[in-house]
Amino acid sequence: MPGVVVVTGGSRGIGAATALAFARRGWAVSVGYRHDADGARGVVGRCRDLGVAAAAVAVDVTDEEDVAGLFAAAEDMGPLGALVNNAGVVDVQARVDQMGLERLARMFSVNVIGPFLCAARAVHRMSTNGGGPGGSIVNVSSAAARLGSPGEYVDYAASKGALDTMTLGLAKEVAGEGIRVNAVRPGLIRTDIHASGGQPERVEGLRAGVPMQRGGEPEEVAEAIVWLCSPEASYVTGALLDVAGGR
Ligand code: NAP
Repeated sequence: MPGVVVVTGGSRGIGAATALAFARRGWAVSVGYRHDADGARGVVGRCRDLGVAAAAVAVDVTDEEDVAGLFAAAEDMGPLGALVNNAGVVDVQARVDQMGLERLARMFSVNVIGPFLCAARAVHRMSTNGGGPGGSIVNVSSAAARLGSPGEYVDYAASKGALDTMTLGLAKEVAGEGIRVNAVRPGLIRTDIHASGGQPERVEGLRAGVPMQRGGEPEEVAEAIVWLCSPEASYVTGALLDVAGGR
């Protein structure tokens, strides 16, 4: 039987779809969320309906104590088998010369430091060096890491570039300890993140520039994440997998 997966930002969007995709394959799911308790509870209920254990945990990924609590709650359900570093934020469109410290600190705290804190906890528990069972980490990066997002949010793109580099380095660091570390780089996916950046119609507006001529669904990203954590991907580590319709 698969173990427990921690999914940060599991209350909606890609994280919610990922939690459900793991549940469908028999994983117990720990759903991290920041504000949306109702959304997280809904995801937990749907996971339980699929016959697996699930729990919602309020956690700000930039807070070390919260992160410790998230992993402690997960282990109440069984041994940790996977971490999906999915929680992430964008901000409103701006040029770099309009960005100040407050915006930049939030962007890099949530999108980079949070995943580092979570990965550290996961490695402690999963590493065969410490008697753990091994496992997988998947970082949810973005196609923005290679596109740069000029005039929109170069800060967001750069934070995802940092996440890609963490993926490459950590993958090599723990490859001999039974842990595989990979990233998915979604393109334009239909979630609420675009509204939170002030562009609710963003996917529709940019659709024509995607070679596949459409936005992606959260479930299409979730399936790639689940595959990366599966035995079928047993020789895949340090991979940056684009899920972006060719963009
Ligand atoms: P979303 O719908 O806005 O959901 C974001 C999730 O992150 C929510 O569950 C939110 O929790 C959580 N979150 C935000 N700040 C947090 C914090 N400080 N601590 C813990 N959780 C926090 O976003 P999404 O579109 O599904 O995106 C998920 C990931 O995919 C992000 O890393 C994003 O950068 C990446 N991505 C998305 C797209 C896209 O087109 N949608 C493309 C490329 C990459 P609450 O709901 O409880 O506030």
